[in-house]
Amino acid sequence: MRKWKLSVFFYCLTIVAVLFLAQWGSRAVTVIVQNSPLERERCMIIDPGHGGEDGGAISCTGIVESAYNLDISLRLRDLFRLLGYDTQMTRSRDVSIYTKGETLAQKKMSDLKERVRIVSETENALLLSIHQNTFSDSRYSGAQVFYADTDGSEALAKQLQSALTETLSQSGNRTCKKSSGVYLMEHISCPGVLIECGFLSNPQEEAKLRDPDYQKLLCCAITAAVSQYLSDT
Ligand SMILES: [Zn+2]
Repeated sequence: MRKWKLSVFFYCLTIVAVLFLAQWGSRAVTVIVQNSPLERERCMIIDPGHGGEDGGAISCTGIVESAYNLDISLRLRDLFRLLGYDTQMTRSRDVSIYTKGETLAQKKMSDLKERVRIVSETENALLLSIHQNTFSDSRYSGAQVFYADTDGSEALAKQLQSALTETLSQSGNRTCKKSSGVYLMEHISCPGVLIECGFLSNPQEEAKLRDPDYQKLLCCAITAAVSQYLSDT
């Protein structure tokens, strides 16, 4: 428990220091980023689930899932960039990235294939697919991580699940699971996880997932977990 809080604290401190020193010029930023103990060989592919015509789930306040996914993903991209990682977004606007198809189902399949193409064409990729959960019973809450059946994915998911549970002060009764029936997860060869950040059907959690400060905390936990995973492997 303490290890995670320290890790998150360390990375948050690094970010604050970078922002602080940025006022005195980019050289200070470069020095800090180059000396922070982070692995940067990997390219972080950040995949905001759904988009455009495919909004995904609908929250208890009537907002489409794709909007939460994009907000969180853009913050995550900025944080990874700030720490010196290469990043690649599958989408950075409210669009579906299909290239063909007439019906919504065909467009959705084309969109998923495009996402697979982006991942497979990126060298040294690590995929973080960002989604939100919903359930008919509004009591359910908590972040949960699902991993692809590829080398390193389970270890990455364990780091993420633990970081999210600790950082977001959640009950800890959720464990990461192998992904089942998710097209993107089944068609990649790099380490990859799908992060369900929380339940849009739970009013308290939905309010948090909309809150910029909570989104920042969530992204800090994800960034710290990925950095920890990379330094352990
Ligand atoms: Zn989704």
